[in-house]
Parts: sequence; C-alpha cells; structure tokens
Amino acid sequence: MKNLSKRQPLLNPYEFYTFLLSHFDPQHWWPAETPFEVVVGAILTQQVAWRNVEKAIKNLKSSHVLDPCKISNLPLGKLEVYVKPTGFYRQKARRLKGICAYIFKEYNGSLKRLFNKETCSLRAELLSLNGIGPETADSIILYAAGKPSFVIDAYTKRICERLQLTDDLDYESLKKFFESSIPEDVEVYKEFHALLVELGKNYCKTKPVCKNCPLSGKCI
Ligand code: SF4
Repeated sequence: MKNLSKRQPLLNPYEFYTFLLSHFDPQHWWPAETPFEVVVGAILTQQVAWRNVEKAIKNLKSSHVLDPCKISNLPLGKLEVYVKPTGFYRQKARRLKGICAYIFKEYNGSLKRLFNKETCSLRAELLSLNGIGPETADSIILYAAGKPSFVIDAYTKRICERLQLTDDLDYESLKKFFESSIPEDVEVYKEFHALLVELGKNYCKTKPVCKNCPLSGKCI
C-alpha cells in the first residue's frame, strides 16, 4: 500500500483519484445485475446504510418482483414489506411505484428508451420526479445509464473540505469542480466516487480516523 508523503502536495483531483486507486484497488461499484436494480438501489439507499438496501433487494429478488412491471402492479402494502429494511419504507415504496409507473407511461416500460436521452435532458427529467434529488439522479445516470455525471455525496463533500481541495461548495458547484478536473470517462467517474466512499467509510468519518488514513498529514 502506498502512503502520500507529507511533503508531496495533492496537485489535483485526478492525482487524488490515482492515489486512491493505488491504495484501495478498484471497487467495481455498483453491485447490481441490471440497470433497473441500480435504479431501485439508488432510491432505497437514501438515508440508510447499503447493508439495509441489500436486504430489501434480496427480498425483491427472492419474491421475483425486481422488475418495473411487477413493482407497478404490486399492492403498495406488499412492496412496503419488501423494502422495510431500508427505513422510511412507506415513502420509498411509494417513490418506487411512482417511478415505475412513470417509466411505463412515458417509455412503455423501457429504461433503455429513457436512458437514450442526452445526459442533461435525462438529468432534468429524473430531477423532476418525486423522490429523486441530485445524488440519486446522478447515481442513476452514471451507474444505470452509463453516462458521465459525477456523483457527490456527504463523504465527498467532507473529504474535499478536509483536504482543502475546495471550499464549502453546494452540490452543483462540487459536481462541476470534479467534472472540470478529471477526464470525462464513465469508468473514472464510477471508480472515483466509489473510492471516495471507501475513504469516507473507513477513515474520513464524522469523527475522522486520521492516524491510519493514507492521507494522514494532508488535512486540516
Ligand atoms: S487524514 Fe483524516 S481528515 Fe484527512 S482524509 Fe484521512 S481521515 Fe479524513
């Protein structure tokens, strides 16, 4: 494992990315078998740990309902039971049904047709749907549609501030910062986001564990 020298400055986000990649190895995020599974996971993971999402996805898979048509036709109460491990499950079940209904109404049930849209239009359309904010929209665009839209989350914001890569920026400004600093490459976007999550989960927590962090000595 490499560690950054205290005398070696972090020159730019791309160097930061390559450093994280060499330290943690590729994460190959998002763990899903289909683009629809990514969409479901992106909605269910709001305000909850991924392990809870895994339980809900497992429920949906073992009941053979992880499909936009089946979720649309499922009674709301039954869907709530399947997604209960993710917290706010009533709200999330309604959101899932709403999004599935929208895909059917506007795209004849085809996620592929929705994802054929140009990235900016796709993002605007996703953001217009109930329960889809910027982080969820960008996760869907990047990991389900396979288009370049950098995902910002709480870990990314915190790490950037602690590393003094950026000031306290809002979501869109931080997204622009990354997108203007690294190659517009879907695989790089996917991996960089996953690596930032890895750093945040293991070291750069609310109460940071700086002692063993590979970036020890680089932060305020
Ligand atoms: S050294 Fe500390 S503050 Fe900096 S990234 Fe690591 S855990 Fe976060």
